Amino acid sequence: MIRLNEIALTFETLWPAAGAEPWDAPGFVSTHADALTGILLTVDVTGAVLAEARAKGCNLVVAHHPFLLKGTQEVNHDSLKGSVLSFAVKNSIAVFSAHTNADIVENGVSDVIAKKLGLTDLAPLVSTADSVGHGRIGRLAQPMQLQRFAALVAEVLPFSARGVAVAGDPEQEVSTVALCGGAGDSFIDAALASAADVYVTSDLRHHPTLDATLTPRQKPLALVDVSHWAAESLWLESAASSIQNAHEGVPVFVSEVVTDPWVFSINRGER
Ligand SMILES: [Zn+2]
Repeated sequence: MIRLNEIALTFETLWPAAGAEPWDAPGFVSTHADALTGILLTVDVTGAVLAEARAKGCNLVVAHHPFLLKGTQEVNHDSLKGSVLSFAVKNSIAVFSAHTNADIVENGVSDVIAKKLGLTDLAPLVSTADSVGHGRIGRLAQPMQLQRFAALVAEVLPFSARGVAVAGDPEQEVSTVALCGGAGDSFIDAALASAADVYVTSDLRHHPTLDATLTPRQKPLALVDVSHWAAESLWLESAASSIQNAHEGVPVFVSEVVTDPWVFSINRGER
């Protein structure tokens, strides 16, 4: 029988809290003193995820995104945050997150995406300490055209409504790949300064993307924009097996709830 304080030690080993960015808020937002009955992993904490946790008999939800991050003023039961949190408290479901501290480590969010893409000679795109850091840069086993690389990215990720969007010449050859799980436009400059042929991340905006593609360098940098949820969801299986290895007796599940807010996309001429 294990309790939250014991599992918290495992989380600290996997994703040391000291590795989190100063603005970040990982850790527990709700706890209880009960024995652990099961753990559910998710990218985001929503009402549907908590309902799934209850249905699966899990009293701990481990999320990538912190549930309370930006200046929450109240948790009234009829508000978005309050309704979810009061459900968690009423049902004795603890909620924990490992965010930027899970981004930077080995087998963390960016590392898992890089490995799924088959990249080798992996290094952080921006180092923060010995062998850890933001994003990853690595090499494809075989150079390929950008179009084929984008198809590989789409194959590796779960389905997302907006798919994979590409900025760059479809026939450009790519062999060195930089990537960052989540909204990585703050690392575009690092990608431009690196040997990367292409940078894969999420939530890319018009101006930084346009500027990056036009920035003079030996070879233009291509950019690949992927669903934030889809990219980060790849980490869940890996995190689940790390937890399971440390605590064999505790049931560990990956949530079946898709928290990607984008449901469909349509283009001119399509119905
Ligand atoms: Zn994220």
